[in-house]
Amino acid sequence: ADATEQLGEGEALATLHRVFGYDAFRGEQEAIIEHVVAGGDAVVLMPTGGGKSLCYQIPSLVRPGTGVVVSPLIALMQDQVDALRALGVRAGFMNSTQDFDERRVVEAELLAGELDLLYLAPERLRLDSTLGLLSRAKISVFAIDEAHCVAQWGHDFRPDYLALSLLGERWPDVPRIALTATATHATHKEITQRLAMPRARHFEASFDRPNIQYRIVPKADPKKQLLSFLREEHAGDAGIVYCLSRNSVEKTAEFLSRNGVEAVPYHAGLDAGTRAAHQSRFLREEGLVVVATIAFGMGIDKPDVRFVAHLDLPKSVEGYYQETGRAGRDGQPSTAWMAYGLQDVVQQRKLIQGSEGDEAFRRRAAAHLDSMLALCETARCRRSQLLAYFGQDPHTPACGNCDTCLTPPETWDGTVAAQKLLSTVVRLQRERGQKFGALQIVDILLGRRTAKVIQFDHDQLSVFGIGEDLSESEWRGVVRQLLAQGLLAVEGEYGTLVLTEESGTVLRRERDVPLRKEQPKPAVSRSSSSS
Ligand code: ADP
Ligand code: ZN
Repeated sequence: ADATEQLGEGEALATLHRVFGYDAFRGEQEAIIEHVVAGGDAVVLMPTGGGKSLCYQIPSLVRPGTGVVVSPLIALMQDQVDALRALGVRAGFMNSTQDFDERRVVEAELLAGELDLLYLAPERLRLDSTLGLLSRAKISVFAIDEAHCVAQWGHDFRPDYLALSLLGERWPDVPRIALTATATHATHKEITQRLAMPRARHFEASFDRPNIQYRIVPKADPKKQLLSFLREEHAGDAGIVYCLSRNSVEKTAEFLSRNGVEAVPYHAGLDAGTRAAHQSRFLREEGLVVVATIAFGMGIDKPDVRFVAHLDLPKSVEGYYQETGRAGRDGQPSTAWMAYGLQDVVQQRKLIQGSEGDEAFRRRAAAHLDSMLALCETARCRRSQLLAYFGQDPHTPACGNCDTCLTPPETWDGTVAAQKLLSTVVRLQRERGQKFGALQIVDILLGRRTAKVIQFDHDQLSVFGIGEDLSESEWRGVVRQLLAQGLLAVEGEYGTLVLTEESGTVLRRERDVPLRKEQPKPAVSRSSSSS
């Protein structure tokens, strides 16, 4: 490297300390930043939470001129800009949420060379007026965030991204950096071609976190399960426990404290002072457990988090990966532990159906949930399934460290059980015009004369008691796995079970349904002595 490059490198590290207050670069950040500061193009694939922003923010600060960031996430721009300004970075954005005057101010700052960073949506960038404006300014770097949006066959395709290929023609001397979190090799290639970045250097961070042991156990009594997991394997360790609701955050933190585990709650309903106090205790102390909603963790860089536990199902594999990724940043063995049950699936489906988003939003949310369920119910190595999900080598060998590797789940032929369950759903619907949730269906299969069974005369159904060969928890497992395999669906406010298009293939005996065995005593624990 020549003298100017070394100067850039030193400046990059100094900026990291001075502006962002961090000690060291993470992973490939340093190499990426060095390359872009020196004027090179880069295509960057890095997991969510991996630290992509610094890869363009620091070059924007180190190189003379304004860094232009193209992002489709208009809703986040204000927050991003506010956060940067709080650090003393001169940042601005231009998008459709602003009025004319606000935009004029930003334009003036840009032309006066008073902006370090300018965030733009792609549809705005491609306007002649915007391109003209940028030509009159000094640009230090173009960053194209969420670059997979340029891939025509991807789910996030944005036609406006195609126009970004002209940046290289109009500004041949300005380095470009394209970044994405989810990309198969095919998408990666497409990004390079469509953005016309043939000379770009490629940086692919691995999504693999070999020191994290992934485990997902059937949920029975989650707080107690958590407590014995902590006592047996993580006594005195720092860790994060994620819950879905503020209420369960509070209750779980109390429960742990009562049982000798030092734990504090963290959620958006607490006042800012309490939140800051709990966060700084977590960073400072050695063995504190934070029980939190997903509001906790963004920007937290504590290297020795020994476990991340989920008492509720995350909404997506991306979320699961990001949250579990907060464990073991120091490379030491750490655990990602989750308790998951049928109720989680029902609850999440309800949340999606009751959400305010439009149909497309709901469909996307449902697809995310399905991938998460598939990870929970897989009989494969969890780590290789995670890597495959993110488009990394699909032939990654089994890790030998996750629960499914350590105690491979036995599978059994669940075809007949699936048929019994689905025909119960069919009968209720066809003969009675009724829909019920999993509890009632399982009671019918088990031949239980509960008050609700009597009330609806369900003991008169021909399917009453046809499932006595399996236990209740086995039946719940069947329901979960059929949901995960798309052979059954949950609907409406009461979480009623309904058939899917695929259900017919089971009822018509056109396919087999392999299921994984429920493990009565789950968990892979290092000590087998305590209960
Ligand atoms: P991404 O865009 O890849 O999802 P971000 O850029 O938002 O990730 O970074 C995730 C979090 O990690 C942020 O809170 C960021 O401040 C933090 N972070 C990034 N790089 C570093 C670093 N070198 N040291 C400490 N924290 C970092
Ligand atoms: Zn494994």
